Amino acid sequence: MRSDEGRLDVEEARLPTLLYYYEVYDMSKASSMMDKVEKILEKKEISYMETQGNMHIFQAKAHAPGYDYYMITAQIKLGGSTTNPTDTIEWLCDEGSVQEPEKGCHAFKYSRDRPRTCKHVESAKRLMKTMGLRTEYNERLDEQ
Ligand SMILES: [Zn+2]
Repeated sequence: MRSDEGRLDVEEARLPTLLYYYEVYDMSKASSMMDKVEKILEKKEISYMETQGNMHIFQAKAHAPGYDYYMITAQIKLGGSTTNPTDTIEWLCDEGSVQEPEKGCHAFKYSRDRPRTCKHVESAKRLMKTMGLRTEYNERLDEQ
């Protein structure tokens, strides 16, 4: 009985340490993403191109050889349903093409985040906010 209690104490004592490591890991992941975003914005490696209907289009400088730019899109989705009560934005970074599937932003393609993200998407989000681009769906701009 006594030894069981003792073992439990050890388990309990270990738990906060594990939680601590997870938190530190998450925070360092977040701060390295923030650093990358700061660098991209500072070097002006991302720019707004145009808006097509309910989609804003951005371009980010790619550092991969033979690939100049990544295209990032922000598709505004209509809210008002139970699953999607407010307008939302679906972000996509460059995933290459059918002809050249090895190209594109690998960080986005294999992102483990849900929704997927990458430094280009996070930078475009910041730029979009700074520029005050529209975030509401406009039905009149829906495909005519
Ligand atoms: Zn990307």
